Amino acid sequence: MKPMVSALKGKALALISGGLDSTLAVMMVKEMGLEVEAVHFTTPFCQCDKCSVDATAERIDIKVHHVFLGDEFLGVVADPPHGYGSQMNVCIDCRILMLRKAKRLAEEIGAGFFVTGEVLGQRPMSQHSSAMRLIEREAGVENLILRPLSGKLMEETRMEVEGVVDREKLLDISGRRRLPQMELAERLGVYDYPCPSGGCLLTDPEFATRLRDYLKVEGMPKIEDILLLKLGRHFRVGSTRIVVGRNEGENNVLEGLSRRGGTRMEVEGYNGPVTLVVGDGEEAIRKAAELTVRYSDAPRSESVWVGVMSGDHETRTQVEAIDEGELETLRIRSLQEKGKK
Ligand code: SF4
Repeated sequence: MKPMVSALKGKALALISGGLDSTLAVMMVKEMGLEVEAVHFTTPFCQCDKCSVDATAERIDIKVHHVFLGDEFLGVVADPPHGYGSQMNVCIDCRILMLRKAKRLAEEIGAGFFVTGEVLGQRPMSQHSSAMRLIEREAGVENLILRPLSGKLMEETRMEVEGVVDREKLLDISGRRRLPQMELAERLGVYDYPCPSGGCLLTDPEFATRLRDYLKVEGMPKIEDILLLKLGRHFRVGSTRIVVGRNEGENNVLEGLSRRGGTRMEVEGYNGPVTLVVGDGEEAIRKAAELTVRYSDAPRSESVWVGVMSGDHETRTQVEAIDEGELETLRIRSLQEKGKK
């Protein structure tokens, strides 16, 4: 039997990504007449645009709190208690961390429960019933997460038991098909969802390979190191990493990053990339110069000068472009990729 008066506060804190599902979840809760604020978490691996989240929040008329998960999140990625997903994604521990932070924020703003756009069975690692229960338990928010899109398929939450939320208003969407969400979006008048799921670099195979290599050879990264991992073409000679810019934007960032350490290289007399060498060793410096020539406009078989800048110290070296076969042996690749060679 439902109690007459709920001890639960009727205000909700929604976890939003800026994508369609969490936007729809918020709209549904608003339609139920409940008060709701939102929190948007970002990590060093997030590719979402904060401005587009703000624009979505403005359109659906909801206050949004932005929380950046920095070093604490890097620690989780380096050593996740619940392991990795298909790449370097740590979805279970990530959700636990976000919900722990959300719990603290909810206490501050007087929210009594949480709303997410999770859809049962949509993501293999974190969106099936047992993972959801584990995440709730470890975050200390058991039975306090309302998932309006899939709620009818799940056990009753405290909000339904105490009459804060009418279970009949919840939906029974499951799996990876997007059609039900598209139809709901049309009914609710949500036409623009700039950040569909998939904005996390930890799920990207190429980025995951670089990060795995980093953790194995260089240990725990700092936030600036993650920025470097996002850029350019990556090569390794022993423990030294060589990053070659792919375009003007990346060249500018690499040049900026070189001011905090490392060796910068540029071909003299031809257009070409900025290369940043993190580490040292004569062999690594020579290979970095050859790579820099390879990606420049300099003729392949000609020996050209490369400027080498390390702090205030400037020097130059004359090399030819690296041989294509050797280039591939230096490229940072996954173990499976190396096995294919
Ligand atoms: S995909 Fe990335 S941001 Fe999303 S839950 Fe997994 S680890 Fe966290």
